Order: sequence, then C-alpha cells, then structure tokens
Amino acid sequence: MEIHPEWFQAAKVSCCRDYPYINEILWQLEVHQRPGLNTMAADDQFRMYYDPNLNWAPKEAGTVIFHECLHVLLQHGDRARVHNATAYIEAPDPIPETWPRDQNGNPLIISLWNIAGDLAINTKLANYPHPKDRMIYPKMYSFKDDLTAEEYYELLLKKNPPKQQIRVDCGSCADGNKRDYEKPGPGRLSKTEQDMVRKVTAEAVAKYAGDTPGGLKEWAESILNPKIPWTRILARILSQSMEKVAGQQDYSYSRPNRHS
Ligand SMILES: [Zn+2]
Repeated sequence: MEIHPEWFQAAKVSCCRDYPYINEILWQLEVHQRPGLNTMAADDQFRMYYDPNLNWAPKEAGTVIFHECLHVLLQHGDRARVHNATAYIEAPDPIPETWPRDQNGNPLIISLWNIAGDLAINTKLANYPHPKDRMIYPKMYSFKDDLTAEEYYELLLKKNPPKQQIRVDCGSCADGNKRDYEKPGPGRLSKTEQDMVRKVTAEAVAKYAGDTPGGLKEWAESILNPKIPWTRILARILSQSMEKVAGQQDYSYSRPNRHS
C-alpha cells in the first residue's frame, strides 16, 4: 500500500468537505503516485494518479481531485469512444518552452475531447480555489458557459483552437486514450460496482441543497431517472450537428442502456 504525502491526504479531506456529494467516488478511487507526472489524472477504471512532488495547497488540490472525479463520473472516456472524438492538437514547431511535456520531456499531444470535457467541468469551478494556470475555462476560448462536452467539442472542431500552453492531460478518464503512466487491465471495481458508485453519488448530488459545478445536477437526474437517457440525448444532438463538421459518421451505441 502506498503512503501518501500529507498534502495529498489533506487535499482529499478538503475535497470531501468542499464537495461532500462526491464522497462515494472519492473514497472508492484507487490512488497511485507517479513522480514526474506534474499533474493529477485518472483512468477509466476508477484509478487516480498524481505526482507526489506537486505539493499543492490542500484546498486547491482538492478541487483538482474533484475535477478528476467528474471525468470518471460523467464517463468522458466512454463518451469520447461513442462519438469517435479523436481530434488533437500537436505542439507547434518550434516547440515553445512553455508547451506541456510528459514525464520523459516529450511534448504532449493534446486531445480536443479532453479540452472539451475540461471546459464542461470547469465552467463553474473558476470560483473555487485551484492551482494557478492549471485550469482552462470556456471564456479562454470565447465560448459560453454551461455547455456539454459534446457541445464544446463541436465548437472546438469548428474553431481553430488556440495554441494553448496549459497542460491538459487528465488521463483516459477524460478521452478514453490509455496513457503510459496508467496501470494496465481492469481496476478493483467491476462495471456493476462502478455503476453502483455512480448511482449512490447521483443520489447524494440530487439531495444536495446547494449549487454543484460541472452540470452534476443534470447528470444525477439522468442517472436516477431512466426515462431520460442522457447520453442518448447528447448523442442525438451531436449526430445532428457534428455530421456537418466531420462528414458522415455513425454515432450508434454499442453499450446497452444499463439503467433501464
Ligand atoms: Zn480534466
């Protein structure tokens, strides 16, 4: 079992206090250290990774943990696969000094879907404490707030995305692409258990009286009310608008609707 540094343990407690409705997933995530990663990330198997040397302030780090939990809850990896969202941005030539790099110093290729998911999650997170220059927001791209990842992706495809220099790499939880630093194979939780964690979290979100960032209320409603097949609605909206952009594509679902 890995011993986590004090700042990280404090960050989890802080996340738990500031975003109490996600406690179920917060304590279910397996956590692994990745020295040199220079960020936090998660995979689509309920595993989280972080650089123990970040030493971020607990409240700021707590917001980043919350951000990663949302990628996992909202199934951004699965949704990227459903929409075949594979567009990316490569580092310009010459590579600016500030361009984000991986653990081995290689310039990162930034997935457009990862950006889209970040914009959707971070819409209302700007007002919460977070590490400086580590988060992107819709206004940085001149987009409006409160859109879905699908809608932001569509906008990003239409617009030449700015050559951003902020690290956007949240792991396969964000876009479905496996990273080198992620553990292989399935995680500790089965698919059924993952769905249970989502359901319990959705119940907590629905009961929470205050505001919740990242479109969580809408997500919770879709999980708890099977009459609203949320991902299908999104896919339908997307298939109508994205076909114009990306040509003829089939956005059919291979995954059964497990909530019905
Ligand atoms: Zn992210």
